[in-house]
Amino acid sequence: MLQGTVKFYDSNKGFGFISCETEPDHYFRMENVKEPRPPKDGDEGTFTSKPSNRNPIADNVKFIRGNTSKSTSHRTTREDGRVVCTNCQKLMVPRIKFTNHRPDYSFCPHCFEKHKTRERTTGEKVAPWIFLAVFILFFINMATQ
Ligand SMILES: [Zn+2]
Repeated sequence: MLQGTVKFYDSNKGFGFISCETEPDHYFRMENVKEPRPPKDGDEGTFTSKPSNRNPIADNVKFIRGNTSKSTSHRTTREDGRVVCTNCQKLMVPRIKFTNHRPDYSFCPHCFEKHKTRERTTGEKVAPWIFLAVFILFFINMATQ
């Protein structure tokens, strides 16, 4: 399985090229794409390489929406961890995209739109513990007097 970025896709002619860091550019047609939605320039995806006389062919192409993330102001979070995708409105469990074996971002498994989860800042994570520590120290101080 290779990873690459759509260099361009001609929707009229139904073909395009995927550029890849370690491989030559791969040619693909819509029939090689395992998604109903046509690709956009700059989309990142995975594919398998098929040799041909000219450019190698990208087959089993799957895209992860890259440059098209919309603003995600509100999302309905359910108790079972599923959320409603603001892009396709489907109930989904966000999938994790890994980069260099580390979780990079999560995305919707239906439309591959990037799913933003608001990370708590370090201050927000630490503040309750500082508050608790001060509280405990205060009571220890009271008890020992
Ligand atoms: Zn979606």
